[in-house]
Amino acid sequence: MRAGALSVKNEIRRNLLCAIQRGETLFPGVHGYEDTVIPQIVNALLSRHNFILLGLRGQAKSRILRGLIQLLDPEIPVIAGCEINDNPMRPICRSCRERLAAEGDNTSLAWLPRDQRYVEKLATPDVTIADLIGDVDPIRAARGGRDLSDELTIHYGLLPRANRGIFAINELPDLAGKIQVGLFNIMQEGDIQIKGYPLRLPLDVLLVFTANPEDYTARGKIITPLKDRIGAEVRTHYPSTIQEGMTITNQEAWMERDTEIKVDVPQYLREAIEEIAFQAREDKRVDRRSGVSQRLPITTLENVVSSAEQRSARLGETHTVARVTDLYAALPAITGKLELEYEGELKGAETIARELIRTAVGKIFSKYFGEVNFQQVIQWFEVGGELKIPELAATNQRFRQLCQIQGLTEHTSKLGVTNRKDEAASAAAAEMILEGL
Ligand SMILES: [Zn+2]
Repeated sequence: MRAGALSVKNEIRRNLLCAIQRGETLFPGVHGYEDTVIPQIVNALLSRHNFILLGLRGQAKSRILRGLIQLLDPEIPVIAGCEINDNPMRPICRSCRERLAAEGDNTSLAWLPRDQRYVEKLATPDVTIADLIGDVDPIRAARGGRDLSDELTIHYGLLPRANRGIFAINELPDLAGKIQVGLFNIMQEGDIQIKGYPLRLPLDVLLVFTANPEDYTARGKIITPLKDRIGAEVRTHYPSTIQEGMTITNQEAWMERDTEIKVDVPQYLREAIEEIAFQAREDKRVDRRSGVSQRLPITTLENVVSSAEQRSARLGETHTVARVTDLYAALPAITGKLELEYEGELKGAETIARELIRTAVGKIFSKYFGEVNFQQVIQWFEVGGELKIPELAATNQRFRQLCQIQGLTEHTSKLGVTNRKDEAASAAAAEMILEGL
C-alpha cells in the first residue's frame, strides 16, 4: 500500500502487526511492562482505540507515548505548505481543496517525517480552545477580504496541527470542562465551534492521554461522553522487583562522565539506592496518591557518583569507589521527590529520607550477610576500639584504619570484593558492613 493512503490508526495497526510478527522489541527502553502494560497497549492500538495511561509519577508514561512514533511510517506525503498536513488524496482544509481543484496532479507535495507527527501538550486549567483547536484570525480575514466565518481565517491550534499523527495530552483531568467538550466534539463528529462559528474538521488523529488514576476516576473531573470515547484505560505501575528497577535506573542515570576520575558504584550500593525507592513507596508517611517516581533512584545514583567524584578531585585521586556516605550526601536528590503525609511533614523530609536510607542499607546488608556472625567486630568496638577517620581521608588511610578492626575485611568478599588489596573497594565494603551493623 502507498505511504499515506491509510488513516493514522490503520497505519499504526499495520506496522504494529508486522513488528510483532517479526518478533521486534516493542517500546525499546521500557522495562518491566512486557507482560502487563505493553500487551494492553497493543490491543488498544490493534482495535484502533484512543487510550489513556493511568499511573503515578515516573512510570514511563511519556516514554511509552513517544515510543508510538516508531510505529508510524518513516514519512508520508502531504500537500506542501498545508498547516494541517493534508492528505493529497483527501484534503480537509479548504485552501488545499481549492488548490487541488485548480492544480490537479501538479499540486506540489512534501514528505513529512514521523518524528514531526507527534504533538504533546501538558494540560493545565488555563489551556483554551484557541490553544488546542484554533481561533479566528481577524487580521487574516481583513487582509484576504474574507468573512470571519470563512475557514481560511482560522488560525489552527495544536490538535489540527497534529492531523495525520498522534496527539498526546498529559494530565487530562486538568483540562477545563469546556475544553473537554471541544475535544469530544472533534473526536465524535469532526465538528467544532470557534467563537460561535461552526467549523467542520474531520481530523485523522490517534489521541492518547495520561492521568493520575485518582484524578481520573474522581467524579466530575472528566466529562462522561469524553470518558466514553476513550477506548482503553491502561494502568502503569512501578517496577515490581529491585532487579527491574535497577535495569531502568542504570539505563537512565548519567554514568559515563567526561572526566579522568573513574568512579565505580558497587552492586550492593546500587541495590541500596533502588531499595530506597521501594521503601519510600511502602512508607505510610509518604503520600501514595502521588507516588515515588523512578527519577528518585536515578538522580540519587547520579548524585552518589558526583559525591565520589568530588571527594576524588579534592584528594587528587583518579579512581574511587562510591561509599555509603555518598548515599547520605545524595539527600538533596531524595527529599524533593517525596510528597509527605501530615505525619511525615511533622518529621521533615530530611529526617524521613535519612530513615529511608538507613532502612534500605539495613535490608541490603541482611540480604548479603543474613546469618553471618560479626561478634568479633562488635567486640572490637566494645573493648574500646575507636575509628578515627577524618571526613576527607585518603583512600589508603581509610583502608589501613579499617583493616585494624579484626574480623571485618575478611567478609568483604561477600560484597563482591575480589581482591582484598584493592583499597578503595575493600574500604567501601567494610564501611557498608559497619553501617549495616
Ligand atoms: Zn490543507
